[in-house]
Order: sequence, then C-alpha cells, then structure tokens
Amino acid sequence: MASSSTESETIQARWQAIRADCPTAVHLLAVSKGHPAMAVRELAAMGQVDFGESRVQEALPKQQDLADLSGLRWHFIGRLQANKVRAVVRAFPVIHSIDSQALAERTSRIALEENKSPEVFFQVKLRDDPAKGGWEPDGLREVWPELQSLPGLKPIGLMTMAPLGLGPEERQSLFHECRTLADKLALPECSMGMSGDWKQAAKAGATWVRVGSGLFGPRPERLV
Ligand SMILES: *Cc1c(COP(=O)(O)O)cnc(C)c1O
Repeated sequence: MASSSTESETIQARWQAIRADCPTAVHLLAVSKGHPAMAVRELAAMGQVDFGESRVQEALPKQQDLADLSGLRWHFIGRLQANKVRAVVRAFPVIHSIDSQALAERTSRIALEENKSPEVFFQVKLRDDPAKGGWEPDGLREVWPELQSLPGLKPIGLMTMAPLGLGPEERQSLFHECRTLADKLALPECSMGMSGDWKQAAKAGATWVRVGSGLFGPRPERLV
C-alpha cells in the first residue's frame, strides 16, 4: 500500500519536528511496526537509519521489500519468544528486549552458531507490571557477572517501559532509575521513552527513544 503524498509529507514533517526537539545525543528509533514498507522509505529518504519492529513475521517481509535500501539498521523491540530467537538474530543487529537469563543464554548460543554478534539491551522492570517482562534491579545485579560475559552478545544498555497510567513525575523518576542502574553497570545506552513520553526520557538520560505513532500516525491495529 503506497502512502499518499500528503501522508508522506506528514510523516516527514513529524520526523523533522521530533529531530529538531530531540537532543543530538539522543538517537531516534523509528518504530515502524504496523506500518508499510513505503512509510519506512519516506523516513529513510530523510536520512533515518534506525527502525524498530516487534514481530518477526511482520518485519521479515518488510525488510525484503526494502532490501534495495542499503544502510538501514533494524532493531528488534518486541517480546522475544524462544522459537523466534534464530530468526531475530539473523535479521536484527540490535535487540532491545532480552528479558530473562534463559533468553540471554539462548540468544548467546544461537548468535555463536549463526556467526553474529548482536548489540543487546537488557530489559528492566522498575515497577510491578504483570504485562511486562524484565529483571528487577536487584535480580539483574545478581546475575550481571554471568550476563555480561555471555559470548556472542555485545551488551550495550538497558531498556525499560513505563507501565500505563503513571503520572509524569513518576515516569520521570522511573527513567532516572533506569539511567542510574545503567551507569552502575557501566552500560552507555538507555532505551526508554515512546511517543507519549520520549521528551521526559531524553531529559532523564535516554540515549535511544522509541517513537512509533508519533512519527507514522496511529497503527491500524493494537500491536504490542
Ligand atoms: C510499539 C512500541 C513502541 C512505540 O510506541 P508508540 O507509542 O507508538 O511510540 C516503543 N517501544 C516498544 C517496545 C513498542 O512495542
């Protein structure tokens, strides 16, 4: 499905507005899940390199459609199921959603088999949230020596998601906690903040903000 010219102008204008507001030290990850390859093209034409997808079965055909564009960097941001690890390791050089030790070990083993070395973020859960995976800070610190030394993975940062319904101040302190924990572990990157709260996340020390609907418009279906 091709975007109409007004639609693409809108995507490009949103991208420019966010870029203008976003500190240069903060990377903008364009979350294209739920949107067609054509929309990715619109932003790639502006110089956007990093795109995020959360479902393998949606991402692979899109990547194929876009194979003529060199230099796109694909980030996997969705919940990673054990049986999808190989496909993700093959197709994504960056993975934001390693959320358990078993998954980290499996990804490490498969990365070695596939001769890949993905950059990975470990997902942390800083508030109770049954809907989300990830380590609590104490749990992460406990397994850190093992996680850090898994072969085949390049640990670069922490990723977190704020639970729905947090007020702006609570969000701000959650983002600060993530930054502090990353600093303690000597991890440079923090992937946090989405369309609704990326500015707060950037202020609190995010180095990657993950923006979907704020760039591409509303998704046709609710995708997580
Ligand atoms: C969908 C998604 C985003 C982007 O969400 P928007 O609110 O559309 O910006 C960011 N991070 C993750 C993990 C997502 O699944």
